[in-house]
Amino acid sequence: MPPNQRALSMVALAKRAFKTVLLKLGYPTRQLRRFGDTVVLLYHGVGEDDLPERELDRQFAYLARHFESIFASEIDRPKRSGQPRVVVTFDDGLRRNNAAVVPLLRRHGIKATFFVLPGHVPWLWTEEVRERLRQGLGTQGSVTIDGLSAASEPEIDRFVEAMKRLPHDRFTRVLGQLQATIAFDPPAAWYHAHALMSPAELRALPAELVELGGHSLHHFILPSLPAALQTEEILGSRRELEAQLGRPVLTFSYPNGDFDEHSLSIAKAHYRFAFSTETALQAGRAQATRELGRHAINRLHGPEHHVDLPFAILKFIKRGGAFA
Ligand SMILES: [Zn+2]
Repeated sequence: MPPNQRALSMVALAKRAFKTVLLKLGYPTRQLRRFGDTVVLLYHGVGEDDLPERELDRQFAYLARHFESIFASEIDRPKRSGQPRVVVTFDDGLRRNNAAVVPLLRRHGIKATFFVLPGHVPWLWTEEVRERLRQGLGTQGSVTIDGLSAASEPEIDRFVEAMKRLPHDRFTRVLGQLQATIAFDPPAAWYHAHALMSPAELRALPAELVELGGHSLHHFILPSLPAALQTEEILGSRRELEAQLGRPVLTFSYPNGDFDEHSLSIAKAHYRFAFSTETALQAGRAQATRELGRHAINRLHGPEHHVDLPFAILKFIKRGGAFA
């Protein structure tokens, strides 16, 4: 490890040790108790290269001790206790999360809302594009399609981010050309890491621990779509999930947290609550999202280390991220 990197990790370790001491002294838990707001946490994958299970275990242990846990659909329910409240959410419905997350929810008595897709796609397009580009780089050295290009591993993410901002017709062209020109033959581990739950697997989740919400049909970036298609993605997600599950679907999470006025109006018409990410806060839109209220609720990304969780929540509340 180069000396400056070593110094950096020493600083990070020292910070973590300091936080551990503060936590043992009861700070920031005491401060959190003073806020009456509800905080929504956002997680994606657990295990593999994502958040380790033992981290989630410790984060849930903290939440179970100090927060009242509620489903996303219950966010405006009157409070039953003086405790702060937390809504734990997982986006995308990764199949491998089932084995990891559900037993932890049960062990700690935590409720979670999974925002899922109703089975039109076996995995997210972003992951497929990343894998195709990786394979393309391996065989061709670089990939250029319709003005977008990647010639090295770090450029893969930039390619995917650029695709998110393309108008839908151009997006479809780029995706189609990637699929037509680069073979797709990922190892078994790739399927394990990225497969989404099937409708049967969604139905089998324990309803007392897991509530299901909509997350569109294809995980397209909503503001990039023509209005009619956007409506179909938002509303269709609810209709299809309700038909598959036989129970109401009351909440929605915008793919990538991205929404525009049209998405917001459709979500308002068809869902009790809709959730974004903390991107809106980072962009200085805290005030704006508060005015949009229950259909643009901010979510804090669950931190990588459990010691950071209470501090991250406190900071999030102070920045205006909580649901008041
Ligand atoms: Zn998502």
